[in-house]
Amino acid sequence: MRIDVVSIFPSYFDGLTLSLLGKAQDAGILDLRTHDLRTWTTDRHRTVDDTPYGGGAGMVMKPEPWGQALDDLATGDRPTIIFPSPAGEVFTQATARELADRDHLVFGCGRYEGIDERVFDYAAELGEVRLISLGDYVLNGGEVAVMAMVEAIGRLIPGVVGNPESLVEESHEDGLLEYPSYTKPSVWRDRAVPEVLLSGNHGAIAAWRSEQQLERTRERRPDLLD
Ligand code: SAM
Repeated sequence: MRIDVVSIFPSYFDGLTLSLLGKAQDAGILDLRTHDLRTWTTDRHRTVDDTPYGGGAGMVMKPEPWGQALDDLATGDRPTIIFPSPAGEVFTQATARELADRDHLVFGCGRYEGIDERVFDYAAELGEVRLISLGDYVLNGGEVAVMAMVEAIGRLIPGVVGNPESLVEESHEDGLLEYPSYTKPSVWRDRAVPEVLLSGNHGAIAAWRSEQQLERTRERRPDLLD
């Protein structure tokens, strides 16, 4: 999969060269390219923002650099172009699964009060446009949201996580939260691992884990059971 990320702070994404996603890039499974939006400016000050029409607080990202960036990056067979936005659809594990199937994703990180609205309309001529929110709160920029999305999507690309079975059992994969996990020692600071996990009875362990999933979801995220 190829992923292009455009931002005025491309070094935010240095962290994506670490760990599993770093290895995936070394192995050629993931082709992640970060770009500085200012590359596509033409003035001496490399300006990417201007005052909003109609007045109001804050600055808006100018359409011209975004248009040039999209012309250069959103090429080929209609990529999926994602703009992180608190006013978008909420990102979930299902969204991550859907996007992990794509060949080419282009992310555009907004800053200030966001990007001139016409950019989204123009981008739709080049690919499938999605405005996606990390959750119901406001960040300073799209970078942190894109980091989270790239990590959630990237680990679903075949070959990125060594044991694909570990993906299946995780929270949100079956609509429930994951059961609790324990490792050695069996007693730590007077706290014992639940007896059933030491029993070697796989049926009983599976039943216990299912019960725990339901109980945990009911307690912490009853909305998921609806
Ligand atoms: N004025 C915008 C609004 O009220 O919808 C918020 C702009 S925010 C300060 C700047 C940028 O941060 C946005 O363009 C978007 O890229 C990013 N951002 C902020 N909150 C986000 C969220 N919850 N999910 C995804 N991106 C977010």
